[in-house]
Amino acid sequence: MSRTKVIAIPVLGKHAVNAHLLLGRHPVLVDAGTSGSAGRILDAVARNGVDPADLRLIVITHGHLDHFGSAAELHRLTGAPVAGHVADLGQYRTGRVREPYLPTGPMGRLMDRNRKLHEAVEPFEPAVLLDGELALHDFGLDARIMPTPGHTAGSVSVLTDDGDLVAGDLIANSFMGLLPGRPANPPFHDDPRRNLASLRAMLALGPTRLHVGHGVPLDPERVRGWVDREQRRLDRSAAAGRLRERPAAPEPRRSPADGPTRAT
Ligand SMILES: [Zn+2]
Repeated sequence: MSRTKVIAIPVLGKHAVNAHLLLGRHPVLVDAGTSGSAGRILDAVARNGVDPADLRLIVITHGHLDHFGSAAELHRLTGAPVAGHVADLGQYRTGRVREPYLPTGPMGRLMDRNRKLHEAVEPFEPAVLLDGELALHDFGLDARIMPTPGHTAGSVSVLTDDGDLVAGDLIANSFMGLLPGRPANPPFHDDPRRNLASLRAMLALGPTRLHVGHGVPLDPERVRGWVDREQRRLDRSAAAGRLRERPAAPEPRRSPADGPTRAT
């Protein structure tokens, strides 16, 4: 087993939005940043001694614009295949998020008003369509992709055999990293309770560190404490009928033969 190094690639700010570079026998990129950030990402990849043409795979953690915005361009520039989960395929094929966003708090309600978060980005077709766990040994990495649904239905994380969990938006830092190291919800979750169950399942695997899309890496012990408090908070919200979660996702594409789609 070779050691896999996880390097944060800043997309916006110092760590407001991150992609990650995983270095094993071959390099793999996790997430593709916002639209127009391919150059910045590949410059950072090169600064870490990796020829962008050597990237073996680009894993997209979920169907939000700050994670797949430059997937199509990065694929064109590097030739690396892109992996994404089938449950977010509709977002990847249309370049649009699933509306509406469901804010987790004031930060999300504020960000929801930002038009940029509702615009279309260049769509892409995942060459590696995920529908379960995928071992990455064939891509040169001692790691596996794990489905971690909840933030979106098609959210995934990457767990290295060394215990580094590249967790996308399963968890974040307070205020997109303004309070570094403090666990918090990202601005939106489609299904907060399902997300928390996914986070618990990942913590049960004993990760040594959680690398996130927004903020600095998190200590699993600190995240465990946060998870217990968040579980109680969600249980109270649910009991009071205040919990918003997205109903079962529609199929990515429907044909008229499937019958009428309910207007919303
Ligand atoms: Zn995000």
